[in-house]
Formats: sequence, C-alpha cells, structure tokens
Amino acid sequence: MKFSEVIGQQAVKQRLLASVRGNRVAHTQLFLGPEGSGTLPLAIAFAQYLNCPHKHGDDSCGTCPSCIKYQKFAHPDLHFIFPTATNDKVKKNPQSGLFQEDWLNFMQKNRGYVTQSSWYETLGVGNKQGTIYARDANDVVKLLGFKPYEAKYKVVVIFQAERLHISASNKLLKSLEEPPDNTLIILIAERYEMIIPTVRSRAQLVKVPKLQIADIRDTLLQQFPEKVNAEQATELAAFSHGNWNLALELMEQADEGEYNFVKFRDWMRLCFQGNDYLALHGLIQELSRLGREKQKRFLIYGLQVMHNSLFVNTKHDLSVVAGASEKDYLQKFAPYVNAANQKQMYELLNEAVYHIERNAHPGILFADLSFKLMALMQAGRRALQIG
Ligand SMILES: [Zn+2]
Repeated sequence: MKFSEVIGQQAVKQRLLASVRGNRVAHTQLFLGPEGSGTLPLAIAFAQYLNCPHKHGDDSCGTCPSCIKYQKFAHPDLHFIFPTATNDKVKKNPQSGLFQEDWLNFMQKNRGYVTQSSWYETLGVGNKQGTIYARDANDVVKLLGFKPYEAKYKVVVIFQAERLHISASNKLLKSLEEPPDNTLIILIAERYEMIIPTVRSRAQLVKVPKLQIADIRDTLLQQFPEKVNAEQATELAAFSHGNWNLALELMEQADEGEYNFVKFRDWMRLCFQGNDYLALHGLIQELSRLGREKQKRFLIYGLQVMHNSLFVNTKHDLSVVAGASEKDYLQKFAPYVNAANQKQMYELLNEAVYHIERNAHPGILFADLSFKLMALMQAGRRALQIG
C-alpha cells in the first residue's frame, strides 16, 4: 500500500516521513486512532516505504519486488497478529497463525480498511469477542529471533492491540522494549485505556485523528463515480463522522434501499400484469441470487410498502417515510392494496421472511410467493373496480 492510497491523514504521513528522513524510526510504535481513520493502512504504507529501495520523495515506488509483495499485504517479512476466536473451522486453541489465509483475503478485499466487527464477521465467530493469545505472543517472539528473509525491516503488525490477553502482553514486553535490529513492531489500537500501561510505555505513540469530511467526500467520488454524485458524496461524508468504513456502509445501505425500491416495484408490476412470465422468471432468478440477508431486507422492504400503502389509503402524510419517487409510486400502488388482499399480502411476506431465515430454497420461495401475490393483486384490482 502506498501512502498515496491512504485516505487523507497528511499530517501523520508527514510525521512518519520525517522520522525516516531523520533516521529516528522507533522500533515499537502504537498507531492509535478511531475506527475508519486508517491506522492499519498507514502502518502498512509506512512499512512498505521503509522497505522500498526505490522510494522517491514522499512515497514508496509501488513497483519494486518488495513493494509488489507489500501491495498484496503478503511479504515474507511482514507478519500480522490479530484477535481470533473459535469458529466452525478452528474449534479449539485459535490463534492468528491458523487464520492467515482468511486474514490476507480480508485485507485484500478491503484494501487495508478493516474493522474489528467486520473481521469477526469474516471469521464467523458469532458474538464471541476475539483475543490475542499468549500463543500468538510466543509466535512473535519466535519469529523475531530470525533475521529478515529479504527485507531491510522485519515488520510485525498487531491489529486491535487492546485485545491482547494479559498473558500475551507480558510475554511481549521484552520484544517491545528491545526488539532485534531491523525490526519494527506496530501496534494498532482504538482504545488507549484498554492497553496495559507496561505495553503503552514501550511504544512510541502515533496519534491518528478521524478523517476529515472533505477527504472522505473526495475519495468517495474518486473511487465510486458510478455510485455517488457530488451531492450524495457530501451527504455520506457528513454522516460518516470521519469514519471511512461507516461512509462505505452508508453508501451500501443507500444503494440497497434504491435497489429494493426498484425491484419491488418491478415485481409488483409483473404480478399485477400477470402475463409476462419470462420477465417474472428473470426477476425471481435475480432475487434468488441475492444473499440471505439481502433477501430478508428486500422482503422487509416489501412489508414496509404494504404498511405505507395503508398510510396512503388513510390519507396520511408520507413525507417522513419515503423519498419523492417512492412516494409517487406508493400513491399509484396503494389503492390496489385494499380490504380484499392486504391482510394476506402482509402475512405472505412476513412468512417469507421467516422461511428465508430458516434457509428455505430462495428460488422456490420467490416463485411460490410470486404466484400467490399474482392472485392477490388480481383480487385487489377487482375490489377496486367494483368499489
Ligand atoms: Zn518499492
């Protein structure tokens, strides 16, 4: 990861660069900053810079053999230690060494911008809290005993250092105090007070502030020009509280909200027309391919449409619950949700959520649901014509 790929944080970057130029790189450093500020990407960019033989000015070259490995977070002299817990695969004695491949994929997928919760989700550890164990510390001590394979600096990155078990902290003290030559240990943490003082006192503190709103906005526009316009990027950045991961999450939610609206509207239209089986089949296929969580949220969105239709029918104001195009749609759709079908439609969608949660076959579920909704939409239409 090059410094130029790290979002914002100019002051921290300059400070790190100055330490290299001034030959004052502390062997043990603690990068402390809130979630989504880029502590981990900064640490990696720093390590890559230190090891690049062709660094120029403010950045590593990005193309030498060392940088190429660092760009993939996979360099034989770059080691990661992180919290782990038991999961389906590792049923006892979890430790970082057993999850290296998962970690690497996770890092590559997120370009270093990872959070504790998304890591636990990736591991599939449920509600368990991860820990960095004494076994992990033993591994660190052991690997520090060897010379670097090929790099100038051997680098150990300890992600979420506040999850260091007390026994692990104690085992690490000596290494943190006096690491071998050409070794850099970087602790990454969000909560200073959760790291024991003997560990804290051995590391040089690098404070990383939350990101600036303008940096988040600009990066969103740069990385996702097809997803956000200037106005949306500004809004997402403002709500992100300087947390890049939160900005991404909000963007995805907004995206999904729009998707659900468009697809549900199409679905109801096809059910209402009841004759374009090819298009309906295509849509069912598409919905079947969404992940379970997304299918569930799609159906819950449908329940919300039913609910809002009742609002429209009873002449309530919709400005709080729906956007402009959604509101427009609801005005047209709502009359067809009436006494003839509303209860059954609501129940059908509700049941579908229940079955999705219990691993029903999504293709069968959406097909079945479509035919039942078709009949119900017809009933609603007849009721409207008679009424
Ligand atoms: Zn390089």
